[in-house]
Amino acid sequence: MGAPSDTEKQAMTNKVTPRPGIKVTCETCAACCCRLQAMLFDDPEVPDYLVEIDPRGERNMARLADGWCSALDRETMLCTIYETRPWICREFEMGEDECISAREANL
Ligand code: SF4
Ligand code: SF4
Repeated sequence: MGAPSDTEKQAMTNKVTPRPGIKVTCETCAACCCRLQAMLFDDPEVPDYLVEIDPRGERNMARLADGWCSALDRETMLCTIYETRPWICREFEMGEDECISAREANL
């Protein structure tokens, strides 16, 4: 898969205002967003052993049986490839809709 188009980027980086009254912080989270599908685009620095290819031939971060990304350190709940994490993970923002819904589903 090539780099995302401008339209795809816009769809994936939709910035929203956090819902009022909800205190959202990664410090009180459990890496809920790391249970979401993380599609890969070019992301050449992601090692192959952390990648799975879906039936449509698209590359995603592999997830383990418990649903979390295979790159997540379960002791620290931190990303083990943070410096070279996928583009989609870099674009993900605390407080955006997907963050809120991931927290609601997993906390
Ligand atoms: S789901 Fe939101 S609050 Fe939780 S770790 Fe991810 S960005 Fe942070
Ligand atoms: S690559 Fe890192 S930041 Fe992205 S989903 Fe996996 S553990 Fe989370």
